[in-house]
Amino acid sequence: MTTTTILRQHLIDPEICIRCNTCEETCPVDAISHDSRNYVVDAAICKFCYNCVSPCPTGAIDSWRRVRAENAYPLAEQLLWDSLPAEVALEDSSPGGDSSPAPLPDDVERIAAAATSGQGGAAPPPWSAAHPYVNLYSIQKPAVATVSGNFRLTAEDASSDIRHIVLDFGNASFPVLEGQTIGILAPGLDVHGKPHHVRLYSVASPRDGERPRYNNLSLTVKRVDADHDGKPTQGVASNYLCDLKKGDKVNVVGPYGTSFLMPNHPGSSLLMICTGTGSAPMRAMTERRRRKSAPDVDGKLMLFFGARTASELPYFGPLTRLPKDFIDINFAFSRVTGAPRQYVQDLIRARGDDVVRLLRDENTYLYLCGLKGMEKGVDEAFAEICSRHGLEWKAVQAELLQQGRYHVETY
Ligand code: NAP
Repeated sequence: MTTTTILRQHLIDPEICIRCNTCEETCPVDAISHDSRNYVVDAAICKFCYNCVSPCPTGAIDSWRRVRAENAYPLAEQLLWDSLPAEVALEDSSPGGDSSPAPLPDDVERIAAAATSGQGGAAPPPWSAAHPYVNLYSIQKPAVATVSGNFRLTAEDASSDIRHIVLDFGNASFPVLEGQTIGILAPGLDVHGKPHHVRLYSVASPRDGERPRYNNLSLTVKRVDADHDGKPTQGVASNYLCDLKKGDKVNVVGPYGTSFLMPNHPGSSLLMICTGTGSAPMRAMTERRRRKSAPDVDGKLMLFFGARTASELPYFGPLTRLPKDFIDINFAFSRVTGAPRQYVQDLIRARGDDVVRLLRDENTYLYLCGLKGMEKGVDEAFAEICSRHGLEWKAVQAELLQQGRYHVETY
């Protein structure tokens, strides 16, 4: 008697995929690869760990087809697709055969697994978040925005050139929520003669626009002129954006993001931790709360913000002018001459009692955005302050994730 294994084959929807490479970078077993046309998953290698699913900005990665194992779509075929094949109805497999598809853990198991493996970003959104619109504009049909402002945020003598860039969408509908990202299509071709990949940026303005009632949004962009090892390199999209002039046109795709969103219910508090340009979504959320301010019903805002010096800190001036009873701001400067190096995690430790008080409140939502490297340090700081108060951070973190109260966006 022959037995048939039915596989729930993991695929990537080529119509939605923006070729940002996030999935390929995330896959721990190298099951994902690409050519100049498509990103594809090797059914023989994929272990269904789901690590790639939540970081995908478009959801293209969350595509599945039930197939007989021997009929799994080969890579060569996937690379030629313009769209996913239709689902083919399968008859039951022969008795004795393994007819169960590869197991799909439910969301709670997925989230718990992400929590224990130290991965963030897998959380559902806050229960009271507004509905996000995603994938309204694709590479094939981008929205065309007009630059209505490009302002340098860092001091002229600062080592980094960080820009506040305002894009106006004219009559095009481009609704975004705080915490969402958009994709920028830089013009020109890469070294292989192909169009540049989409580059993602967090929206730095609230949902009603950088300028209220205008159809615009802002981005926080740092000019990249060196790689992680300090070797000179020109960031394609960041240099393109930083050099834009008022009136220039920009191709934009997205919006993306259904999880890193802010709560809307009365009494909700935000605990925001960021480094450098990771401040973009924190600015958006803070500004949303400032504009909608209702002190009698709003919860607390607490911000930990890391930068090299005050002159390298985006939005430093405006942030220092916000009233203390509106937002509790903690700046961590790492390169101030004559002062010890401070990172956000040092200040989280120093403010441990207040942070734990917030963590104990079921209306607190935690956001972490910026350098990937800070995740470990922040995690250790949370573990330490929780244990000081008789809490086990891993358990707290898993609960926060399950409840859509823990959101991470680091690169
Ligand atoms: P940066 O200026 O290089 O660093 C900001 C601060 O973080 C510095 O004080 C730095 O200290 C400190 N830092 C370095 N390693 C750390 C660690 N392990 N733990 C805690 N703090 C640490 O930052 P950046 O260049 O702006 O980078 C921001 C990151 O945010 C990028 O990876 C970017 O991709 C990401 N991001 C950007 C956006 C956006 O919309 N633009 C959105 C989301 C995320 P020292 O360097 O002095 O050690």
